[in-house]
Amino acid sequence: MSNVLIAGAGPAGLTAAYELSKLGLNPTVLEADDQVGGLSRTVNYRGYRFDIGGHRFFSKVPLINQLWEEMLREDFLVRPRLSRIYYRQKYFDYPLKAANALAGLGPIEAMLIGLSYTKARMFPQADETNFEQWVVNRFGERLYEIFFKTYTEKVWGIPCNEISADWAAQRIKNLSLREAIKNALFGSGRAADGQVITTLIDQFNYPRFGPGQMWERCKDLLASRGHETVQGVKVERLRHRHGKVECMYGTSSNGETVELGADHFISTMPLRELILALDPPPPEKVLQAANYLRYRDYLTVVLMVKREEIFPDNWIYIHAPEVKMGRIQNYKNWSPVMVPDSSRTSLGLEYFLWEKDEEWEWSQDRLIKLGIEECTRIGLIEPSEVEDGTVVRMKKAYPVYDQHYTESVDIIRNYLETFANLQTVGRNGLHRYNNQDHSMLTAVYAARNIVGEKNDVWSVNTEMEYHEEVRQSSTKGDRLTPQRVAPPETAEKVIEAAFAKLDPLAMGVALGVVASLVLFWATTVLLLKGGPVVGPTLGLLDNFFLGYSVTWSGAFWGLAQAAFGGFALGFLFAWLRNWSLTAYAFLVQRSAEAKERGDLLDKV
Ligand SMILES: Cc1cc2nc3c(=O)[nH]c(=O)nc-3n(C[C@H](O)[C@H](O)[C@H](O)COP(=O)(O)OP(=O)(O)OC[C@H]3O[C@@H](n4cnc5c(N)ncnc54)[C@H](O)[C@@H]3O)c2cc1C
Repeated sequence: MSNVLIAGAGPAGLTAAYELSKLGLNPTVLEADDQVGGLSRTVNYRGYRFDIGGHRFFSKVPLINQLWEEMLREDFLVRPRLSRIYYRQKYFDYPLKAANALAGLGPIEAMLIGLSYTKARMFPQADETNFEQWVVNRFGERLYEIFFKTYTEKVWGIPCNEISADWAAQRIKNLSLREAIKNALFGSGRAADGQVITTLIDQFNYPRFGPGQMWERCKDLLASRGHETVQGVKVERLRHRHGKVECMYGTSSNGETVELGADHFISTMPLRELILALDPPPPEKVLQAANYLRYRDYLTVVLMVKREEIFPDNWIYIHAPEVKMGRIQNYKNWSPVMVPDSSRTSLGLEYFLWEKDEEWEWSQDRLIKLGIEECTRIGLIEPSEVEDGTVVRMKKAYPVYDQHYTESVDIIRNYLETFANLQTVGRNGLHRYNNQDHSMLTAVYAARNIVGEKNDVWSVNTEMEYHEEVRQSSTKGDRLTPQRVAPPETAEKVIEAAFAKLDPLAMGVALGVVASLVLFWATTVLLLKGGPVVGPTLGLLDNFFLGYSVTWSGAFWGLAQAAFGGFALGFLFAWLRNWSLTAYAFLVQRSAEAKERGDLLDKV
């Protein structure tokens, strides 16, 4: 049985171990911290539980949903989502709702937004390489300034025009025309088999005791199968020879050196750290690429407040530039058991920083003071209501997508591919802005690669489809059971038939031939029948066909004109039908794309 060593017990590392255990291999996980879960951990402070941010569990990858269900079962709750934006002393629903935004911004601002949106759609910027251009092209300059710029810059710490448009394109896929039309024609409310289609924007899964519960459970499941997760060991060196890693070296929390060999190695360490840990070191060019990679750091100030209810949202985006915090989480609204006493509320104030920022070095007391001041300034609490507080700092929370990162990642990737038994996966492991689901999927792929599959972990979340709809079985009301939406085949057929283009030339010829033959046949039948007055009714057609009469010469004259007129009508009908269907499809796709981008801030 092959031994596999995994660096990191976050979602990716633990998922890799879990999958390997199913495949009959022998994984061991080494974790630097004294807690598992990585960025998806839950911290427990005097009975108050909180996340690093708020971790929604949602995925369109059935395999990942199955894994979550399998691990947590009845503790995997479905929670409603409520979130708003705080801006100019007002709260705006998020995802944005037209009436609510209009009421908050006033008619003049709304008109200016409309004008700038129209301008952006009519005259989009041709160059769309940075985030600012990407958003302005889709929302207009004014909406971008009001609802996207401040928050995005708080999170990333760099101007929006220095952020690569890659992540937006990666996390917000345009729907295919086919998908959009399907939704428009067959509705996104109820599918043909009676299942309710629900959008993951409105609700999400969440472990009863926070995201860390999932990863603690995973660790326990691994232990029950005899696989160890060693906490407090930071991997610092990977010794390799002839394209194979032989050993991982680490230091335990009590200072002892740990040396472990294995047949295969999986790393979820930040890509830069992995490269710098290789022994012997890689070529200079690879080292340089690793050193170019940047990470955004994060800290959360958690305030325990003596009040039962402060606001109903799960979280609020803080766009107000006068405060440093970017978002506030209200953990009891994620799961009621996140607080030990229901008469209390815990607020998680999120600050996005660089390690070199002075605030990063501030003492816990000073940060708590800042948090209280800022919450008071925006009118959420009174300072006297705060009875306790704590701070959690998390380095390398976000792999930065600046204008140079792709080149660096490519260089590193090419180099790492020369190793026969080393794979790097996960969020920082691939320097990819992945949520848990995609981080986990890369881990599953890596595990399966060890038993002979050939999956490309780098393609996850760049080439995969990423849709936000799931089916919820109406018989399992307490559980989100997402699967890829696979509309009934009839829907596909109806769309194909309804949207098939007509050939105007063929339609014209067909109608011309039919019209001319029918008229010629009717005229000759009447002529052959004879009588005192031949074809008085048909003769009325001379109103349409100049010089037509029910005579032998009229029959040929009518044949020619009906052929021409029928051709013109058929051609025009086909052309108009094609044009209106194209216009309809365009509008449907635009509106579907707008819906898809409706939660852009969630993805920042
Ligand atoms: C503020 C915030 C909000 C988020 N919200 C969501 C959300 O709502 N939904 C969602 O699905 N995802 C969310 N995410 C993303 C999610 O946290 C990550 O996708 C996920 O945790 C990545 O898992 P990972 O195992 O790749 O990396 P990590 O979670 O970073 O875990 C890596 C682990 O490796 C350990 N490690 C690192 N170096 C070493 C070393 N040298 N030796 C040993 N161990 C090491 C670390 O200590 C850590 O435990 C959010 C992230 C942030 C920062």
